[in-house]
Amino acid sequence: MPQFNAGESKVAKAPIHNLTGKAFDYTGLIYMGTDLAVMAEVPFHLNAGEEKQVAFPITMPSVQGTYPVHIGVFSGEQNIALYRAAEDVIIVLTMPPAPCVYCGGTFSTEAELITHMGTKHPGKPYLASIQLLQSSIVQGGYNAALVNVRVYIPDGSYYQFHLYIYNDACASAAYIIGNPAGFYEASMSILGYGVASGQGYFFIPAGTYPVYASCVRVVGYELQWLYRGVDTGLTIRVV
Ligand SMILES: [Zn+2]
Repeated sequence: MPQFNAGESKVAKAPIHNLTGKAFDYTGLIYMGTDLAVMAEVPFHLNAGEEKQVAFPITMPSVQGTYPVHIGVFSGEQNIALYRAAEDVIIVLTMPPAPCVYCGGTFSTEAELITHMGTKHPGKPYLASIQLLQSSIVQGGYNAALVNVRVYIPDGSYYQFHLYIYNDACASAAYIIGNPAGFYEASMSILGYGVASGQGYFFIPAGTYPVYASCVRVVGYELQWLYRGVDTGLTIRVV
């Protein structure tokens, strides 16, 4: 089965043949998943008897799994055809390694980062991989840009991993109890708004922001900060 990265942009091409003796305007739709989520919608025209390749620009789903693919063709309100593609599509998460949150070292593979952590910073929690699925976010509203992370947790404590772009106000967090210790994957969001004490809800000003990370271990009512304000090397634009 064909395999793609989560969030990857691709163009799917499907040959479509007008078997009738009349010209028609059509709308083609590509659906992925058992819930038939619409991934692309493309208008096109076919003359009587004409066949052409129709191109569908698709942004792959952000969740890993196996997706059946369907193609629908409509003319006006009328459903002309619904096909299931011969092969399902597999979506995988191949996330780039994060920099070392303790010393800023950068690595070309996650395995190198893991080796570094094991020798230089043993027994500490860290970001292993981080992947921002969009390069910009619309200011305000309840807009959110999805970020996939893989984190390492060294023990059975309760940890909070945060990402933020503007002061401390716009944090998104993954709350994980490391039971068992090991690697955990989570989806987090960068938000186009913030909530700050004394200021309430506010829009983040337009601009380009580094994505910062922090991690805290929560023991009872005590917050034990492991790292804070670490530059992940990623940036996002607020527009
Ligand atoms: Zn380091």
